[in-house]
Amino acid sequence: MSELLHKNGLTQLAAGLRTKQFSSVELVRAYLQRIEASQSVLNAFISVTAEQALGAAAAADRDIAAGRGGALAGVPIAHKDLFCTAGVRTTCGSRMLANFVSPYDATVVAKLKSAGAITLGKLNMDEFAMGSSNETSYYGPVRNPWNIDFVPGGSSGGSAAAVAARLIPGATATDTGGSIRQPAALCGITGIKPTYGRVSRYGMVAFASSLDQGGVLATSAEDAALMLREMAGFDPNDSTSVDTPVPDYVASLDAPLAGVKIGLIKEFVDEGLDRENERRIREALAVLERAGASLREVSLPHLPSSVPVYYVVAPAECSSNLARYDGVRFGHRCQEPRDLQDLYRRSRGEGFGAEVKRRIMTGTYVLSAGYYDAYYLKAQRVRQLISADFKRAFGEVDVLVGPTSPTAAFRIGAKTADPITMYLNDIYTIGANLAGLPALSIPCGFVGGLPVGLQIVGAHFAEARILNVAHRYQLETDWHRKLPERFA
Ligand code: GLN
Repeated sequence: MSELLHKNGLTQLAAGLRTKQFSSVELVRAYLQRIEASQSVLNAFISVTAEQALGAAAAADRDIAAGRGGALAGVPIAHKDLFCTAGVRTTCGSRMLANFVSPYDATVVAKLKSAGAITLGKLNMDEFAMGSSNETSYYGPVRNPWNIDFVPGGSSGGSAAAVAARLIPGATATDTGGSIRQPAALCGITGIKPTYGRVSRYGMVAFASSLDQGGVLATSAEDAALMLREMAGFDPNDSTSVDTPVPDYVASLDAPLAGVKIGLIKEFVDEGLDRENERRIREALAVLERAGASLREVSLPHLPSSVPVYYVVAPAECSSNLARYDGVRFGHRCQEPRDLQDLYRRSRGEGFGAEVKRRIMTGTYVLSAGYYDAYYLKAQRVRQLISADFKRAFGEVDVLVGPTSPTAAFRIGAKTADPITMYLNDIYTIGANLAGLPALSIPCGFVGGLPVGLQIVGAHFAEARILNVAHRYQLETDWHRKLPERFA
């Protein structure tokens, strides 16, 4: 039986554990086997913590037997390798942090632990979460389970590939400009980025602090709702964390769609979108209409400026955040520095990869005297206009929809030589980050044998609504149940 356990989603696994159909030790063993068998092919994990996981699973089994244990008691998960884990290294996909072991757990890690989840390891990612293909990782690219010559998307490529190949039923991830939704789309799974401030950033290695937000990758909206409910909530250790109660996202999943107003973002289907991809989106919208929702087109005129705005704001914030890696306090230190300048220069030069250096240089440039007003300030102004567009739109409709990514997955290496082409992958996802809105991606079909995603964006703190729309769609369709043949 344990060979088939991976066919279940997180919700079913949690229920199966509670009703003692199988034990957590059995479940963890089954997933560890899948991880081991696929690692040389997919490269989804940076660290696997088998021993700790089996110990925690035995403890979870005792808790369950005693009638204790949280909503995720005994359920295996894994973390993107930028969530700090006490005693287990956190590399952030970088050589800079290759030996970094955090003395404490990120709030997200602690919360999932106290809900009973078992961590099987740390997932591969683009270096410092900068990328859209998982090719910037110091630990090598991750491969897409649907076709291993293709990228899984990024920066949470390890999380997405692991969930898509059912190496794990759910994983944490982060989204600064699309890094949960874009890999979810390219790997055919469900991913949600909550409202900025909904999930604590404490212990989450910073890339661009005004945009970074932790979230979930899972195989369905139902599972994402369950995991998010356990992760979300106010944290006094994060000054941007918002002190409002977390609704029960699971309880509202089934609400009927009658009367729900859906707005298709006009700018997202006007140009640049692959035609087959567009067809899948329109078919998905027809499903939602049949389920009772009403559909109209909504224009957000400033949205096409998201990519240039983001690629000023995000590098600016990253140049500041990454200044802490100086070779002095923690992280990579060069051998035998001659003096302080040499220590800084060589430690950073050796520790960071090319994409991270490009961002730091861009960020330093746009923040420098004389250019600050022309670039950074201007970008912040346009960011406000984009937020205002969304605000206006949510006066008219309940949720906004569109594609998640302009194309399905592309070949490994196809875009690495041209950063601008790579940045354009984020064209549909960045807007939600700039405005701090919750957004998710669900699978809605295939183009050329590769999955594509439908994106659903909500108003601030409307996670329950977008999960509800996604769940109703998944009740009518079975795209989210499809598994790549090789990992079936
Ligand atoms: N692809 C975007 C970037 O490279 C977004 C990354 C992210 O969301 N972490 O910056």
